[in-house]
Amino acid sequence: MNSRAQKTSRLFSFEFFPPKTPDGVESLRRTRTELARLEPEFFSVTFGAGGSTREGTFEMVKEIQQLGLNGAPHISCIGANRDSIREMLDDYLAIGVKRLVALRGDIPSGLVDRGEFRYANELVTFIREITGDAFHIEVAAYPEFHPEAPNPQIDLENFKRKVEAGADSAITQYFYTPDAYFRFTEECEAVGITIPIVPGIMPITNYRQLARFSDTCGADIPRWIRKRLEQYQDDLPSLRQFGVEVSTRLCATLLEHGAPGLHIYTLNRYRPAREIWTRLPL
Ligand code: FAD
Repeated sequence: MNSRAQKTSRLFSFEFFPPKTPDGVESLRRTRTELARLEPEFFSVTFGAGGSTREGTFEMVKEIQQLGLNGAPHISCIGANRDSIREMLDDYLAIGVKRLVALRGDIPSGLVDRGEFRYANELVTFIREITGDAFHIEVAAYPEFHPEAPNPQIDLENFKRKVEAGADSAITQYFYTPDAYFRFTEECEAVGITIPIVPGIMPITNYRQLARFSDTCGADIPRWIRKRLEQYQDDLPSLRQFGVEVSTRLCATLLEHGAPGLHIYTLNRYRPAREIWTRLPL
């Protein structure tokens, strides 16, 4: 297989979040331009659970669509109801969106009304019910298990519910231990889950931020990485260099062993994502 065919037969994508300031919007436009040159399959845009970024997500996705690229909005159902989800889906259909990332969302602290949907599988069922096959639906997967899950087996069963509800593919929470992903995908196969499960990759650029995220979402930072990052804390060039090396090696191992693509959490920065990408044999 030549390198181009190798790239196009797998799914490569980048994730953004809707910026809060005009400067942030400008900076994201630059990031999008730089990363568009790498010809990813799609750019996804996150959604603040509870609807806090509804407008921002829509505007960012609309811009992506207007440039002739593929935007994939995240939609979370926490605090939502059937009418509000239907309205969002109609808005996305109207601008030509073909792919969604369907999530329950993190429960915002203090949220009293959790809305009409309890879990992502109910959202996927509803999207299929009212829009048929209009969208390719992505869901979230957790090789190191969702922090609320009572045990790995139950988490796997819950993941399977989303697939059976109509998900076409999945993107994982980030992780740094390839065996966690391989074990997870083997277990999925064993229970008859055959959709592509694309690893989510979080480039390492800031130790404190990464440690904070990881505590919340349950992603493990292995000790050998943590110790080095602690050592580099104020030496940003060394930290970034090490971070790119770790992520590139992780991506190469995953692809070598059959991962169906990569989804890079860019945090709206292009340099780490581009550097990892260009070091890979794509
Ligand atoms: P679910 O699949 O509903 O799972 C949530 C928990 O409930 C799990 O513990 C699961 O085991 C359990 N569960 C699931 N179904 C059932 C059921 N039927 N009965 C009983 N228990 C069940 N968050 C945002 O707020 N905005 C975003 O844009 C966003 N983007 C993300 C993108 C990716 C690729 C990933 C991996 C995560 C993203 N998140 C985002 C975080 C995500 O919303 C949280 O991890 C959230 O806590 C769970 O969402 P989910 O869709 O995986 O939920």
